[in-house]
Formats: sequence, structure tokens, C-alpha cells
Amino acid sequence: MSIEVTIVTPERRLLDQMVCREVELPGAQGMLGVLEGHAALMTPLSIGLVHLIDIDGGEDMYIAISGGFAQIGPERVQITARSAELEGDIDVMRAEAAHQRAMQRLKNRQSVDPDRAEMALARAVNRIRLARKKVNI
Ligand code: ATP
Repeated sequence: MSIEVTIVTPERRLLDQMVCREVELPGAQGMLGVLEGHAALMTPLSIGLVHLIDIDGGEDMYIAISGGFAQIGPERVQITARSAELEGDIDVMRAEAAHQRAMQRLKNRQSVDPDRAEMALARAVNRIRLARKKVNI
């Protein structure tokens, strides 16, 4: 049983046909587990972590994404993400600064677009969570 995962963003191809046993995706309605043989499906993704399980029969990998969509088929998953980072890509200081900025903006609600600040906060929390390995959902 195996499934091939590709992750692209507007800036780069982060993963190219990575083979794993299962992939979990942050779907718009919650986490979605995909195994070989899954029905063809196109789904929007939310801010969250993509989890690749048993790459080459062993390692797991997590990728922080901030929305996009996934094209699921019986043998492969193609993710087009707004942004995507591996654990080692994440600049924690930058994510913490983004977190602080968003919190500040949410305090002065009248001067900003609160939805935009909420999304920026969620992206920052997601990155910090992966960088600190707090990935258990
Ligand atoms: P910031 O306000 O720090 O730019 P953001 O959430 O608005 O954060 P995005 O628009 O989601 O940033 O991402 C823009 C680009 O910067 C993407 O390529 C994304 O992968 C990268 N990026 C954003 N934050 C980080 C981070 N903390 N560490 C590494 N790369 C990051």
C-alpha cells in the first residue's frame, strides 16, 4: 500500500512524488486520511499540517501549509498550497514576530481587518507548532 505525494506552492516544488503509506491533510472540514485506492476527490485545504506517514517504510514527515487545495486520486495526492514549509525551513523568530503583530492587531480591532489578522495568527501558530514539534493533533 503506497501513495505518492507532491506539494507545490506558487514559489517552489517542495516535494516531488514522495512515496509514503498514508497522508493526512488539513481539509476544510477537518483532518482527512488518504490511503492508496482513495476515491478521486478535489478538496480545499485549511491552515495546518500535512503528515506523511511511513516514508520508505519508516520515517514520518510534517509540512506546515497555509491553505490551498488537494487533488486526490487512487495512487497520488497533488497539493497546491498557498505556502508550505518543512520543519527545517521555519524561521521561528519570524513566526513569533508575526504572532505578536497579529495579536496586537486583534487588540486594536477597529483599525484592522480582523479576519486577516486571524489568518496571520493561525499561520504563525501553525509554524511555531511544527518548529517546536508540537504536532500531535
Ligand atoms: P510574515 O508576516 O512573516 O511574512 P506570513 O504568514 O504573512 O508571515 P506568508 O504570506 O504565509 O507569510 O508566506 C510568504 C512566504 O514566506 C512563503 O514562501 C512562506 O513559506 C514564507 N514564510 C513565512 N513565514 C515564514 C517563517 N516563519 N519561516 C520560513 N518561511 C516563512
